[in-house]
Amino acid sequence: MGLVRLLFAAVVLLGGGAEARAADTVKLERELGRKFALEAAARLPIVRDPDLVTYVRRTGAKIVESLGPQPFRYRFFVVRDGRVNAFAVPGGYVYVHTGLLLEAANDDEVAGVLAHEVAHVHAHHLLRQQEKTRLVNYATLLALLGSFLDPAIGAAAIGAQAAAQLKYSREFEQEADYLGARYMQSAGFDARGLLDFFHKLWERQRTTPTFLPPFLLTHPLSEERLNNLEAVLRTRQWESAARRPPSRELRWAKFWARIRTSSPQEAAADYARAHEAEPGDPVSASILGAALVESGDLERARAVLEPLAPRDARARRELGRALFRLRETDRAAELLRSVTAEEPDDALAWFELGRVLVSSRRWDAALEAFRNALRVLPDFEEAHRELGLAAGRAGREGEGFFHLAEAARCGGDYGTAIGHYRRAIERLDDPAAKERAEKRLRELQEFVESRR
Ligand code: ZN
Repeated sequence: MGLVRLLFAAVVLLGGGAEARAADTVKLERELGRKFALEAAARLPIVRDPDLVTYVRRTGAKIVESLGPQPFRYRFFVVRDGRVNAFAVPGGYVYVHTGLLLEAANDDEVAGVLAHEVAHVHAHHLLRQQEKTRLVNYATLLALLGSFLDPAIGAAAIGAQAAAQLKYSREFEQEADYLGARYMQSAGFDARGLLDFFHKLWERQRTTPTFLPPFLLTHPLSEERLNNLEAVLRTRQWESAARRPPSRELRWAKFWARIRTSSPQEAAADYARAHEAEPGDPVSASILGAALVESGDLERARAVLEPLAPRDARARRELGRALFRLRETDRAAELLRSVTAEEPDDALAWFELGRVLVSSRRWDAALEAFRNALRVLPDFEEAHRELGLAAGRAGREGEGFFHLAEAARCGGDYGTAIGHYRRAIERLDDPAAKERAEKRLRELQEFVESRR
């Protein structure tokens, strides 16, 4: 097994000279992260909704940018799971559950959790901790990373055992709090968000003994830890200013998190109540419209969205999505086009525009729209699939198979991906495109090989 060999290398490296070790550790962590991400794509329900993923990635990028040059390229993923959790894998891979986003009251709380996770990666806590507890043999390290993929984490006995291995020490938790608060400050966030979020979990845990989200199993909280963090923040005299309300982007991210973790009908009923309570809020009206699109209540969606569409690009996009489903293709295309002109980084608007264009057999324009969706979100699985199918129908078979392969790769279906990369390579003429497909094929073949 490749991962086992790799982890065995880690054991050897951790015993070597300090400086050589630093460089080698970074290389090893990068490799571990890359392998983990491939395994995770195959085993975790990764969410691809553009508003949600883009929000988390932009928030994470702001934190990472404030750190200056980094040995890792940080990547952020969202997992469809209603339990509060976030975890970081060596090499810069950060995963957040939809349940955590639903729990966050504002952008600073989301940023706080991401900053804390980035700090664990940046300070190499996982490997350092294993070194410290003398648990560095390949079996335990392998189990350790595998536990991140264990769906039972946080649920009773199996979870407790896995979590015990993944649990950060008190010292590392405090370091990650302190570093996280610093990163937040330099990125322009309110560092109290970190403390607020942890306080909220702590209070819930104290009042509801059954509340034990995976996040608290791996990042244990204590009164002492909260007090220390509070002391750090006090010295910066921030306590007097009011908390910021959630941004429009966070509200949309939470909407998709909600849609992916509960029934769209229930969500629509809740958003209808929220809108009734605050009828003058245009964001809650647009989100209600989107919830009605998702629950299939299209005429009602149209009625809610139509008056908002002229002024609000997001409402216009949702109206376009509703009309496409009502087979009013021309108007849908017109609305979606105007959204992409106003918001060129709205990947969902590009994707829906592509689908509308496919339905009227305008292949070249459709390909362009899907390519734009992928420019914003390179691992947008559905956009790869639609682009692949449209390219095939437009007679561009090489490109078609390449994107079908990419879609299968995003979904963790590596057998299918390998087959499609091979078909793409046979058909692609452009040397750069061919080389890209060959590189992907080699990487997946090597990974599949190492899994055996
Ligand atoms: Zn932690």
